[in-house]
Amino acid sequence: MIFLEKEYWKKFPIWKNVSENEWTDWKWQIRNRLKTAEDIQKIIPLSEKEKKSFKKTSNIYHFGTTPYYFSLIKEFSQNNPIYKQIFPSLEEIDENIQKEAFLDPFKEDIMSPVPGLTHRYPDRVLFRATNFCSVYCRHCMRKRMFLEEERARTKEEYDRMFQYIKENKQIKEVLISGGDPLTLPNKKIEYILKNLQDIPHIDIIRIGSRELVVNPFRFFDEELLEIFERYDKVWLVTHFNHPDEITDITKKAVKNILSAGIPVLNQTVLLKGINDNEKIIENLMRDLLKVKIKPYYLFFCDPTKGVLHFRTDLKKGIEILEYLRGRLSGLGIPIYAADLEGGFGKVPLFPEYLIKETDDYYLLRNYQNHLVKVKKEKRKREGEGGV
Ligand code: SF4
Repeated sequence: MIFLEKEYWKKFPIWKNVSENEWTDWKWQIRNRLKTAEDIQKIIPLSEKEKKSFKKTSNIYHFGTTPYYFSLIKEFSQNNPIYKQIFPSLEEIDENIQKEAFLDPFKEDIMSPVPGLTHRYPDRVLFRATNFCSVYCRHCMRKRMFLEEERARTKEEYDRMFQYIKENKQIKEVLISGGDPLTLPNKKIEYILKNLQDIPHIDIIRIGSRELVVNPFRFFDEELLEIFERYDKVWLVTHFNHPDEITDITKKAVKNILSAGIPVLNQTVLLKGINDNEKIIENLMRDLLKVKIKPYYLFFCDPTKGVLHFRTDLKKGIEILEYLRGRLSGLGIPIYAADLEGGFGKVPLFPEYLIKETDDYYLLRNYQNHLVKVKKEKRKREGEGGV
């Protein structure tokens, strides 16, 4: 976990006159996003290659970061994990690299009974509230939305989505995502939560947001915390990918969210050159637990157009899980999963611990490759055997 010094942002000349009140205001962070190569060059000079990447790539997939997230870059190098998640690269538009990727690999737009809503699993729907994010992550699975104009959905669109959910009583859970739904004004957030909470067959409202990573000051907003307190079906799922993203501010923000009664889970994406390393994932999981975020999923990187250069081999995630077992308690071990292209859903992937099965026993191995037999239970059922 990173401890940020008091007024640390003042060491960047561009923010030297920014007060603490401004820096810690989530709206100030969004209003003052860095959105162009020129904005970046007010902070650091860009190399010719970087300028070319900005020019060619950010016209297609836009660029944007909050000052806070940018300030977490420890050194300006193309190998820095935060740099890699926000700076455009030519690989995103290299057809040789991206030719086997898809704009919408999981057919979210096709499996959509109402605009903005995806209904893939019987008991769950995806509710895309906006396509705006305060940071545009280069590895985003919904990168096709970068091609659209930034906008939140209208009240009428939300109402049609609520109507569909009301009419389909098998739906028990709604995942509100985007874009980032917590970039919406509080009034809109409350409108969405109230309408969903009031549907009797909805048990869980899951908010998928990266604001805790890129703009944790969102959770210092008393009005938002009071809204959270009013809607007890809400869970928050966030998206930390590297230990450098977890700071003492994250810890304070999580405390506020938990105090409002909202559980916090994390989904990490396995990204080549960013976190495809056993030790980095171990440290990330440990730091998440320290700030009371439960590691939930580790995802194999999706085959999304503009993202494929971040993809590792599928087995890398299984190797990482194998490494974690025995080093970390079960609390810190996420589920590793791949989302199947074509909209066929997620598949969990595990190291193999059941080595063999005979008529009499199972052979199990532990994390040290120690083998143990477990006898098969051969209880007679009533009416079986005996004369
Ligand atoms: S915040 Fe989430 S939805 Fe937005 S660009 Fe990043 S990964 Fe994609």
